[in-house]
Amino acid sequence: MKTYSIATIPGDGIGKEVIPAGQAVLQALAATSDRYRFEFENFDWGGDYYRQHGVMMPANGLDALRHKDAILFGSAGDPQIPDHITLWGLRLKICQGFDQYANVRPTRILPGIDAPLKRCRAEDLNWVIVRENSEGEYSGVGGRVHQGHPIEAATDVTMMTRVGVERIMRFAFRLAQSRPRKLLTVVTKSNAQRHAMVMWDEIAAQVATEFPDVRWDKEIVDACTARMVNRPASLDTLVATNLHADILSDLAAALAGSLGIAPTGNIDPERRYPSMFEPIHGSAFDIMGQGLANPVGTFWSVVMLLEHLGEFDAAQRLMAAIEHVTANPALHTRDLGGQAKTEAVTQAVCAQLAPRR
Ligand code: ATP
Ligand code: MG
Repeated sequence: MKTYSIATIPGDGIGKEVIPAGQAVLQALAATSDRYRFEFENFDWGGDYYRQHGVMMPANGLDALRHKDAILFGSAGDPQIPDHITLWGLRLKICQGFDQYANVRPTRILPGIDAPLKRCRAEDLNWVIVRENSEGEYSGVGGRVHQGHPIEAATDVTMMTRVGVERIMRFAFRLAQSRPRKLLTVVTKSNAQRHAMVMWDEIAAQVATEFPDVRWDKEIVDACTARMVNRPASLDTLVATNLHADILSDLAAALAGSLGIAPTGNIDPERRYPSMFEPIHGSAFDIMGQGLANPVGTFWSVVMLLEHLGEFDAAQRLMAAIEHVTANPALHTRDLGGQAKTEAVTQAVCAQLAPRR
């Protein structure tokens, strides 16, 4: 029997509700298998930890995670703590510490979900956005001088390295190659950003020669937002910089029906470190503690976690259970226009995974 060691970091707000739900579906899967089981270690890092200790996670926190098979993360964000502290102090620390340089965000319209684009059929919207997750606009390079004075100035420098761009392009081309349409759109802004984005385009063209069976095109990021709305079926796999993909993937999640459904994986493709899976939504303090949180984004993140572990059969079964449940409007949470509670949705998915009698 294989034992997978999973770290759970619920974080703040509704993270504390959806991560136990994610654990429950993993346990429900394990109950049907004599091949694998899951062992969880929970870490109470986040806003409450910050109030007690002045940091979002302990200095040796990464060491506690280093030998895990995967990390399941909820959300970091607290209305009383500035966002750059919650983000840089926890999530980004893990992403950067473990060089999870590929952020992968699948988007589909799940059965039963009322998506906002009226002219778009469910089969027209089936995307994976690959976000460069280690440098670019969020590299942390920059500074602020003369604070409070009329001559105050600040910079955030977009830093791109050849190594960084090559590895994300290669990852994206490989992912596109593994999907039926073998279609990649490289998102850029090289018309206005004349240095880093031009290098980005050049490297895309170089890496493309290694993947002759992948069709690829280039799209300016602003035009890409319009294309996602007007011609969703023309897209399949997309690769974009840290900032651009951040924005595009929120748009993608909204077009698929709800922020509460969308999953993501922060992947170290070289598998030197554990990868981290999380719903893309934030801590949503407005609905916390009321059982209103949609756990589907977490369940779908668990599907990605299972795929990463190589448990493809379990991943497929869980995805089928999720789709079975979303197809039933009586099991929709409030964000989807329904009245179901987190607990009811979780129980329904677990019941769907239980062996038939
Ligand atoms: P953060 O500051 O951590 O990003 P946030 O308060 O901005 O958190 P988001 O998660 O970004 O919240 O989501 C915006 C809104 O969408 C929330 O206020 C909430 O009402 C809704 N929402 C987000 N996730 C879910 C979910 N899983 N289930 C139900 N509603 C959700
Ligand atoms: Mg937010």
